[in-house]
Amino acid sequence: MHEWALAEAVVSTVDRLYQENGRRKVLSVKVLIGELQHIELEVFSVGLQNLLSERPFDSDVFHFEIEKASFRCNACTREWLLEQHTGLGEEEREAIHFLPEAAHVYMRCPSCGSPDFTLERGRGVSIQSIDLEDNRQG
Ligand SMILES: [Zn+2]
Repeated sequence: MHEWALAEAVVSTVDRLYQENGRRKVLSVKVLIGELQHIELEVFSVGLQNLLSERPFDSDVFHFEIEKASFRCNACTREWLLEQHTGLGEEEREAIHFLPEAAHVYMRCPSCGSPDFTLERGRGVSIQSIDLEDNRQG
């Protein structure tokens, strides 16, 4: 159940920022979830809701966005999205979703043909932004 561990990490991070910013009300939190990060959003949400019962912010401030997987060529710096890469069959695509390292077996840089490229985005979970209420009336 890595969803719960991730939910806990997200909640702890938001809570720390909340404390550090004068406990201003949390209006919205944008969470970026890598396309290659295998997360059951539903399980993740349930985890969040459970953890939030004792926190000063609700689950409806959380917004999720899927970050598309992209690669960058180390030879020519060309960047491309996994979904844009032509010449990949369904099975190859699926293999890369489960094992991103397999990309090196099935793909080459679309510009220069180099097999030397790096997975740039699409893995892991990150907090993209947090909006806090203005503290003007203080
Ligand atoms: Zn290249």
